[in-house]
Amino acid sequence: MHLADAAWPDLEAYFEAESLAIVPLGSTEQHGPHLPLATDHLIAEAFGDEAAERTGYLRVPTVRVGVSPHHRQFPGTAWVDAPVFRDYVESYVRNLAYHGIDRVVFVNAHGGNVQHLREVGRRLRDDDVAYAVEWMWNESIPDLVDDAFEQNGPHAGPKETALIQHLRPDLVHDERLAEARDGGAVDPEASIRTRNGAATFYDTVENSPNGAFGDPTAASAEKGAELFDAASDQLEALCEWLADREWAELRAPERVTSE
Ligand SMILES: [Zn+2]
Repeated sequence: MHLADAAWPDLEAYFEAESLAIVPLGSTEQHGPHLPLATDHLIAEAFGDEAAERTGYLRVPTVRVGVSPHHRQFPGTAWVDAPVFRDYVESYVRNLAYHGIDRVVFVNAHGGNVQHLREVGRRLRDDDVAYAVEWMWNESIPDLVDDAFEQNGPHAGPKETALIQHLRPDLVHDERLAEARDGGAVDPEASIRTRNGAATFYDTVENSPNGAFGDPTAASAEKGAELFDAASDQLEALCEWLADREWAELRAPERVTSE
């Protein structure tokens, strides 16, 4: 069930029976010359919908703008500052908790959100409000993602291209895939600037002139479908695991004493 499509008596019944919510989060940021700015939030929302369909748990409206200042040099990229994002997401979950939710899966598809969602999860647990976990699809199937493509990339590479070819092929510029490869950072490890163990960049454009990483020409809708199904299995299992936990198991541990 999608919260925004439901009427309140049906939601009242849901909150009486269940206490888990699926919260999709992404970004609206450049994804190379070949993919839409919506890439991350489309991916997050598709996984959220799939999990809701498979499990019956509630999916709530997607957070579509995330922490993306490092993509600002590319026209159109939208972002909010990290402290604002953390406060917004925390407030959003506190609102869900008011209705009876005490466990949340952040279905996140943007790397720049991860550390902030972890911080929000900590705040919510420390205050005994809710137990929230951050989940990213590619982290749930690392071997499959590694094996699928020779030149992967952390951003706008073949894995994200394949997922959008599967989910929204109308938004992929297939005729620009070679351009995305040749004008970007085809070998991410060689392109990402570091010096003596320090990251010596802050913005994506410093590592990839067109914003893409890896070789998107290796992507296909078939590979996207395979990755989507495999990660959806992981997300379904995570939701069921979280729903089955006793609240006492999820709470922050007590302070240690010597006695
Ligand atoms: Zn992305």
